[in-house]
Amino acid sequence: MRIFTAFAAGMAFWLCGASQGMSEARLNVLCGVDEAWCMTMEKAFEARAGIDISMVRKSTGDILDQIRAEKSHPTVDVWWGGTGDAHLQAASEDLLDRYQPDHEHDMLPWAQNFFAMSGSRSAAIYAGALGFAYNSDLLSALKLPAPTCWQDLTKEVYRGHIQSGNPNSSGTAFTMLATLVQLLGEEEAFRYMAALNRNIVEYTRSGSAPVKAAARGEVLIGISFMHDAVTLKEAGAPLVIVAPCEGTGYEIGAVSIVKGSRNAGAAQAFVDFALSPEGQATGAAAGQNQVPSNAKAALPPAAPDITMIKMVDYDFATFGLSDERSRLLTRFDTEISPTQ
Ligand code: PLP
Repeated sequence: MRIFTAFAAGMAFWLCGASQGMSEARLNVLCGVDEAWCMTMEKAFEARAGIDISMVRKSTGDILDQIRAEKSHPTVDVWWGGTGDAHLQAASEDLLDRYQPDHEHDMLPWAQNFFAMSGSRSAAIYAGALGFAYNSDLLSALKLPAPTCWQDLTKEVYRGHIQSGNPNSSGTAFTMLATLVQLLGEEEAFRYMAALNRNIVEYTRSGSAPVKAAARGEVLIGISFMHDAVTLKEAGAPLVIVAPCEGTGYEIGAVSIVKGSRNAGAAQAFVDFALSPEGQATGAAAGQNQVPSNAKAALPPAAPDITMIKMVDYDFATFGLSDERSRLLTRFDTEISPTQ
């Protein structure tokens, strides 16, 4: 009975959102997760709420840059997906609206902490650990040893065999930079990045491109979120997924309403849907393997067990600051690899 009441209340909200949506323009959503999930979520929300969405996939840093550039005339209503430290940076720059989502009380503790840290401007939708993956067919063909640690990736045998995202555009790659700073200390982390740079064949705009290239056998090793690699392995790619032996960092993916959105009712309905068990199930439906933030949402069966991974106590408060992001990116551009 209580379940039915809650369900009916949820329906009423979405229907209310739908009627607001119909009188408003279509909802503009920038999507930071994998393209497949962006499309599944778009269809699911449109079917549930009857609100038309324009959903565009971009990398995390590119979304942050667009929202900053449009501060005085926002065209985006919702930023859904992408690494949470960039959402926190936007919150600290007053680019996001406060909103208390319907399902916030059902969120896991790490998600509730994230929401509090954002000043009620950004809600966690999933978590996932950073790692890397290598193509086992290529590894055998090249007769190379299997890498198991971050330090292995700097060895000369892997010269020209590694792809990573560029941290300016890619939230995945920024998570890596921040992770190494936390694991090794900043000076040592930059020495590590300089050594790794000698083995990098390309810095890609998107963070999932490296592991997709490894899945296709175009490169041996891709640095990525482990859940991205799991999705490709499940689809048959000959990938071995590595949780680096020294420990690793993780992301909290988030959803936020852009300050000045002209579709506030529809944007709020979208956030509520994104946090609901039904909205969170769209990830698994699209073959994704992140850990959902809602305690009532089902864990995708192949999702990496993040409690078994040696993890840094990721400092979202520090790495969610805009000045810290700019400082680290400037150091990356000047000392490691100039961004074109
Ligand atoms: N792909 C997946 C599955 C993710 O969870 C995330 C981050 O939230 C990204 C990609 C990030 O993309 P990018 O590194 O291009 O910003």
